[in-house]
Amino acid sequence: MCRHAAWLGEPRPLTWLIHEPEHGLFKQSYAPRHQRHGMINADGYGMGWYDSTRPEPVRYRRTVPIWSDANLSALAQIARSTCLLAAVRSATAGMPIEESATAPFADKGWLLSHNGRVSKDALRDLADDLPGRAESACDAAWVATAVFLRGRAGLGLGEALAEVVVHAGKKDPGARLNLLACDGASIAATVWGDTLFHHRSHDGVRVASEPLDDLPGWQPVPERSLLTVTPDRVAVQPL
Ligand code: GLN
Repeated sequence: MCRHAAWLGEPRPLTWLIHEPEHGLFKQSYAPRHQRHGMINADGYGMGWYDSTRPEPVRYRRTVPIWSDANLSALAQIARSTCLLAAVRSATAGMPIEESATAPFADKGWLLSHNGRVSKDALRDLADDLPGRAESACDAAWVATAVFLRGRAGLGLGEALAEVVVHAGKKDPGARLNLLACDGASIAATVWGDTLFHHRSHDGVRVASEPLDDLPGWQPVPERSLLTVTPDRVAVQPL
């Protein structure tokens, strides 16, 4: 399982999710504390952020372990935004290790990460020609494409996540479908088979597979639910 995290609030650099907290994604890549599947997350990492000079978010994805990228530290210090998303990857057996299989996946203003695994047969009827439209043969890329197509059809971020997760989860009872997505102004995330927490402070909200630090205030999000975060509201509803 991968680990992912997002921020919505006052402008922060990506180090806010990765290096600064004691158990940020950098540490979670080799010493996660709540990971249920897999020991380390060394099959690549990625991050995305929004900048007022561009209509679409910026992404940086690599297939190397996060600790081996000497360029990351400076980049993560200066890349800052009111909305951030980052993930470290432990590839599911049989899935390709390539940049196009690495979160965050993106379409227009949306970014998405998938923590889990799902059979491709459970996804096939979510869209015509999903294999041809997805940027990689990775299950996560298929999930992302199914969500993005719903966004293009007019669904909101949370609605699109919920529709894909409930459909695929019913078809594949062994699926794990923790999705984390953002659009620059909100975050949505599903809990379906793995852990998810959120932490609210006076200047914003952090959402993460597992707490990024030991400060009080991290709230677990219940299994089979949808979390939505906007600047003035955190909501949890059952899936
Ligand atoms: N199945 C996805 C992949 O291979 C996600 C993996 C994970 O959560 N470990 O990238």
